Amino acid sequence: MKNNIKSLCILAYHTVRDSKNFEAHLSYLEENYSVISVEQLRQFICNKTKLPKNPLIITFDDGDLSVYENALPLLKKYRLPATLFVVTDLINSHKPFWWEEIEYYLGKEEGNKKVWEVKDWKNIELEKFLLELRKQSNKPAMRCQQLSTAQLKEMQASGFTIANHSHTHPMFNNCTREELEAELKNSKGQLEELGFTPDIFAYPNGNYSRLSETVLESHQIKVAFLFDHKINRGKINPLRISRLAVNDHTPLWKLKLILSGWHTKILPITRTLSKLRKK
Ligand SMILES: [Zn+2]
Repeated sequence: MKNNIKSLCILAYHTVRDSKNFEAHLSYLEENYSVISVEQLRQFICNKTKLPKNPLIITFDDGDLSVYENALPLLKKYRLPATLFVVTDLINSHKPFWWEEIEYYLGKEEGNKKVWEVKDWKNIELEKFLLELRKQSNKPAMRCQQLSTAQLKEMQASGFTIANHSHTHPMFNNCTREELEAELKNSKGQLEELGFTPDIFAYPNGNYSRLSETVLESHQIKVAFLFDHKINRGKINPLRISRLAVNDHTPLWKLKLILSGWHTKILPITRTLSKLRKK
């Protein structure tokens, strides 16, 4: 049986600020699952090694400082492996995440709306918009403390896989081939140089397209993750691996519901209901 899996849950977190609740997650996961690394999944996909019973993977997208500050000590305490997908252009810098920058300039509410809107734009349009926003504002440039190479190395030494989340976090389905080539070349080059894991990839925002998949393949990306809120069952497509969205503040009962698969089934119904309510 090729790449066939009974059930594999992969959790996708972003920031970790609620350490107490996050610890409750880890304690539950450690009791009830075999938490494996993405490297073990790669071995399963590429070399047909076996996975333990009830496998689960913990991942974090973007490389927020709070993962180093709050998640790392707890993952060490529970001896659990995890993966951090980093945006390579931000390492060792004070550059903000572009979506936080939009909220900074436009205010929380309007900015948040705009972030959703620009995610559908061509990447070149988004870049132009950001340049214009910075130029027109009277506010001082936004600064954000990003993770350093030393911090990432410390995480790696403590069981983290430091993997690829692109160079500048564009929406891959809105990029040209040239833009995708540059994203892969730069992110892979930098991760290789630092001794991290360039060929395990998470799509920014989970957005992918046939073209982006072709470019990923040509850059020897072996495993790529989505953000589609599904559990992996049956045959796995290595470049379209499903992940479940969770937060550090997700209540434990809800985490259990998400892991049971029921949440995925209920989600389209609750979304339809809330749309109907708005009408
Ligand atoms: Zn991201």
